[in-house]
Amino acid sequence: MGKKVTRIGVLTSGGDAPGMNAAIRAVVRTGIYHGLEVHGIMRGYQGLIEDDIYRMESRSVANIIQRGGTMLKTARCKEFYDYDGRKKAYDNLKRRDINGLIIIGGDGSFRGAVEFSNEFDMPCIGIAGTIDKDIYGTDFTIGFDTAVNTAVEAIDKIRDTMDSHDRIFIIEVMGRDAGYIALHSGIATGAENILVPELKSNIDDIVSSLQEKERRKKLVNLIVVAEGDGFGGAVEVQKVFKKKLPKAEIRVCILGHIQRGGSPSCLDRLIASRMGYHAVESLMEGRYNVFVGILNNKMHYIPLENAVKNKGKISEEWMKIVKILAS
Ligand code: ADP
Repeated sequence: MGKKVTRIGVLTSGGDAPGMNAAIRAVVRTGIYHGLEVHGIMRGYQGLIEDDIYRMESRSVANIIQRGGTMLKTARCKEFYDYDGRKKAYDNLKRRDINGLIIIGGDGSFRGAVEFSNEFDMPCIGIAGTIDKDIYGTDFTIGFDTAVNTAVEAIDKIRDTMDSHDRIFIIEVMGRDAGYIALHSGIATGAENILVPELKSNIDDIVSSLQEKERRKKLVNLIVVAEGDGFGGAVEVQKVFKKKLPKAEIRVCILGHIQRGGSPSCLDRLIASRMGYHAVESLMEGRYNVFVGILNNKMHYIPLENAVKNKGKISEEWMKIVKILAS
C-alpha cells in the first residue's frame, strides 16, 4: 500500500478528445465525495510547470459533461521532455502539498508520466483520453467513439455524391499512427477498401479491382485511409491510382479536425465517468503509476510502462471481414 492521498491534481494533456470533460467531472466529484481536495491544472504539463493550478469544487464541473474539448485546456509542452522542466513541475506540486496526480491524455502524455514518476516521488495515474485509441491494454479510450461516429456521419454524406456520380472517393481520417478510426468508420460505412498503418495494403489488388469495375462501367468505390498509412495519406494514394486509372474521377476528402470536436457520445461520457471514478479510487487504494483501462467490460489497472512500450494490433481477421463484406 502507498501513502495516504489527501490532495490531488488533475490535468488534460496532448490532443483533446470529446469526453475529457466528463472524466474531469468524475475525478473532481469522486475526490470531493471522499473528502479529498482536488486541484485543476491548466494546459496539461505546461500549467504544471507554470504553476497554473486552482482549487476545484463540485460546482466547478457543473454543466460540462455534454461538452467537447477540455475545460482545463490542453497543450503540448516541450519543457516537460527535459528533467529541469519536470523538476519545476514536481516542486510546484510539492509546494502545494499535492500528493497524487491524475493525467488524462494519450500515449505521449503517459510517456511523460512514466518519466515523471520514475524520477520523483509522486503517485501518478493515467486515464486513457485520445480519439486515436492507440493505447495498449484497453478496449476503449475516451473520445474514440465520438470521433468514429463523426467520421461515419461525414462519410455517409460523401457516399451519396459518390454513388450519384460514379466516382472513386478516398477519404482520410485521423488516428496518427493508428488505424482504428479508419477501420471502424470504414467497416461501418461499407468501404470497399481500408488502408491502415498496422497492415501492409496490396495496392496492386485494389488497382486490379478498380480496373475491373471500370471495364464494367461501375467505377464507384469508397476507400478509407488512415492519416498515418504507409503511403502518406489520401493525397499520395490518389497519385498512385491516378497513374493506373487516368480516366477515372478520383476525389479526395480529408475529414480533419471535425473528428476531434463535438459533444461526446453517450458511450464516451459513460467510460469517462467510469474511468474518472476508478482513477480516484485507485489512488486512494495506493495503486498508482498505472492507467485505468477497460478490458472485457472490467476495469483494469495497467502499468504506465506497459502502455508506452506496447502497441495495439489490428487483426488480419478484421481485414478479411472488410474484404468479404465489400465484395
Ligand atoms: P498525446 O498524449 O495525445 O499522445 P503528445 O504525444 O503530444 O500527445 O504528448 C503530450 C505531452 O506529453 C507532450 O507535449 C509532452 O509534454 C509530454 N511527453 C510526451 N512524451 C514525453 C516523453 N518521452 N518525456 C516527457 N514528456 C513527454
